[in-house]
Amino acid sequence: MLHPFRYLAPQSAQELAAMLADHASDGKILAGGTDLIPNIRNGVFKPSVVIDVKKLPDASSLRLGADGLSLGPAVTVNDILRSKDARERYPVLCACAHELASHQVRNRATVAGNVVNASPCSDMAPALLCLDAVAVIGSGTGQRELPFREFFTGVKKTALKPGEWLDRIVVPASSAGARGSYLKLKRIAGHDLGIVGVLFVRLGGSLRFGVSSAAPTPVLVDTVTAKDGPDQAAATVLGSVSPISDVRGTKEYRQHMIGVFVRRLLAEVK
Ligand SMILES: Cc1cc2nc3c(=O)[nH]c(=O)nc-3n(C[C@H](O)[C@H](O)[C@H](O)COP(=O)(O)OP(=O)(O)OC[C@H]3O[C@@H](n4cnc5c(N)ncnc54)[C@H](O)[C@@H]3O)c2cc1C
Repeated sequence: MLHPFRYLAPQSAQELAAMLADHASDGKILAGGTDLIPNIRNGVFKPSVVIDVKKLPDASSLRLGADGLSLGPAVTVNDILRSKDARERYPVLCACAHELASHQVRNRATVAGNVVNASPCSDMAPALLCLDAVAVIGSGTGQRELPFREFFTGVKKTALKPGEWLDRIVVPASSAGARGSYLKLKRIAGHDLGIVGVLFVRLGGSLRFGVSSAAPTPVLVDTVTAKDGPDQAAATVLGSVSPISDVRGTKEYRQHMIGVFVRRLLAEVK
């Protein structure tokens, strides 16, 4: 049985801010609902009001501009994969999008919902971290910008404050053309949450690794240098994560596979 709730669909940022202020303790924002609705069904959340962001102006806008690629709060993971601009200029974003869940889930799941949900196994977070993406955060008093490097604060925790929402994600123009590849280990061949995921990105002279399912938050490692050999690179990445043992895999298996993926990615992505 789904816990009963009222459904609200604000048509402007002002309306959304007022609704969040009125329902600070009993309201939840809804985007695609692929995390929220199962959580309501399982009793994790019991909101009396659900506030849908999909009717906000420009909510579904995916736009390439001088500042980079801008994603509204209702842009789905499949919207990314369908976008020629994203495929041509931000292939790393698409590599991660392609690994998220199934085609059906990706039709509903938004990029914004994925990062606000802040699961350690988020597949979009490694790309946004490695590409220096910025969260544009809305509130009743205006907007503020926060790099994704500072966005994730713990398991399912973000730097969003009460009354704030993720209004837009900007992947900067300076990250266009970055080359990379994402390897995700799963229990089954089809769609599944990752046992561990490692993204490797070459951006100008900088080498970045984005790691999922290996720490309380998705992790960015940008301290590997071009002079480091594969063993040194693997040691640096492993020194930045703190995997645990859980139902999907042991800590030791995760550590081993992170090392395997780092070596493989360094050889693959030239
Ligand atoms: C079968 C299945 C398989 C899945 N597999 C994967 C997988 O392989 N990899 C992966 O990373 N995820 C996976 N997921 C999780 C999920 O699909 C993603 O996290 C999804 O991107 C969440 O987006 P959404 O639009 O559905 O968010 P919602 O469920 O609508 O919202 C998620 C959370 O974010 C909040 N929220 C949403 N939008 C905003 C906003 N703009 N501002 C502030 N708060 C907001 C909501 O209140 C809620 O707490 C899977 C889910 C399912 C059901």
